[in-house]
Amino acid sequence: MSRSAHPAGPRHADVLPEGHYTAPAEDLNALDPKVWAHTVGRDADGVVTVGGIAVTQLAEEYGTPAYVLDEADFRDRARAWRTAFGADADVFYAGKAFLSRAVVRWLHEEGLNLDVCSGGELATALSAGMPAERIAFHGNNKSPEEIERAVRAGVGRIVLDSFQEIVRVAHVAQTLGKRQRVQIRITVGVEAHTHEFIATAHEDQKFGIPLAGGQAAEAVRRALQLDGLEVIGIHSHIGSQIFDMSGFEVAAHRVVGLLKDIRDEHGVELPEIDLGGGLGIAYTSDDDPREPHEIAKALTEIVTRECEAARLATPRISVEPGRAIVGPTAFTLYEVGTVKPLDGLRTYVSVDGGMSDNIRTALYDAEYSVALASRTSDAEPMLVRVVGKHCESGDIVVKDAFLPGDLAPGDLIAVPATGAYCRSMASNYNHVLRPPVVAVRDGEARVIVRRETEEDLLRLDVG
Ligand SMILES: *Cc1c(COP(=O)(O)O)cnc(C)c1O
Repeated sequence: MSRSAHPAGPRHADVLPEGHYTAPAEDLNALDPKVWAHTVGRDADGVVTVGGIAVTQLAEEYGTPAYVLDEADFRDRARAWRTAFGADADVFYAGKAFLSRAVVRWLHEEGLNLDVCSGGELATALSAGMPAERIAFHGNNKSPEEIERAVRAGVGRIVLDSFQEIVRVAHVAQTLGKRQRVQIRITVGVEAHTHEFIATAHEDQKFGIPLAGGQAAEAVRRALQLDGLEVIGIHSHIGSQIFDMSGFEVAAHRVVGLLKDIRDEHGVELPEIDLGGGLGIAYTSDDDPREPHEIAKALTEIVTRECEAARLATPRISVEPGRAIVGPTAFTLYEVGTVKPLDGLRTYVSVDGGMSDNIRTALYDAEYSVALASRTSDAEPMLVRVVGKHCESGDIVVKDAFLPGDLAPGDLIAVPATGAYCRSMASNYNHVLRPPVVAVRDGEARVIVRRETEEDLLRLDVG
């Protein structure tokens, strides 16, 4: 997954194991707008600000570590997706990337729909007033209770993921005297990650019903026969952090092929096609994500072309971006605790959080950038690894980066693009308390998810 050359400082170049380490060309005080939320900048004193507020003030008020989320940026991105796809398509924000009641309200106001994949996410969405018909319920093993809650609530669609689930959902709906709108999730044999995709032989995974061997066609056959179900379309989600649109091209081709087979066999044209999420964002300056309008144009053209070739009316398209909306909107603010230079290797910078607030580096070998946030510095760059405070040597937040050589305990550093899959995957490892999410907008900050307390921890421990 890693694709950028490993960076390194000039003073280490002779001793580092790999030969291609180079000093960073860019100014370490600069904040690349590609990886930072829109309102992020530095004030006259060199302190990083967001939404008009200095991070030093945020740290004082809310403590560190903290996720700092730029509300205006979130709304801008949500609106950009909504506008790009227009009235003939639907944008479902993937709640698993980061969900809170404030986020649900913003999405509602900006005209987006919402994907949930558990009873907890459904409860959050409903409690913040998202209309049930704008919610899609996902997951490869929804419990009978979750299915019943979703059907009772009247969710707009349930995405069916197995033969058992087809029967379960139909049964629940029928028992409740309802007809549930459903999509069937299929695997089209495409797996996409960043700049590569594999067009065949990726049916070996837990999600979806394989197109190969006629299984997806059989699932549709069975679902169409059940009174409790209204089959509205086919769903395909091919991967994550995708930059290359050709994976979607192959997926759309195969989904439309199935729609054509369904028309030929059953005489029905399913009205919807969902192409999932997975669109990439910039974690470092090396990443070049596409804009929502480019993605919308590409996906619409692909589906329209495939449908014309198959002589099908173009179905209503939906997409499910999670990371691409919330990822770039937040950064994690940490305080530096220790700075440990290892001769001939690198300097380890320990912060007051770690794998409990960002598991992505340990889990996926994810790349991040980092900046000194409480001041600027003209010191020589030093090669660092930003690590957490957990009892695990894999507890790494930023694997390879440069920070100014005069970095010291007490400095604040910020890791951008942590809005997606960081708070939502956060844990209590080592009984570390999960950080708050502080939303800023127009010079005002407010906590939308509060910091966990020791009381919260102990409340669950019932002895
Ligand atoms: C995870 C997921 C998404 C969102 O993925 P991103 O990479 O955050 O855009 C969308 N749809 C489905 C079905 C998913 O599982």
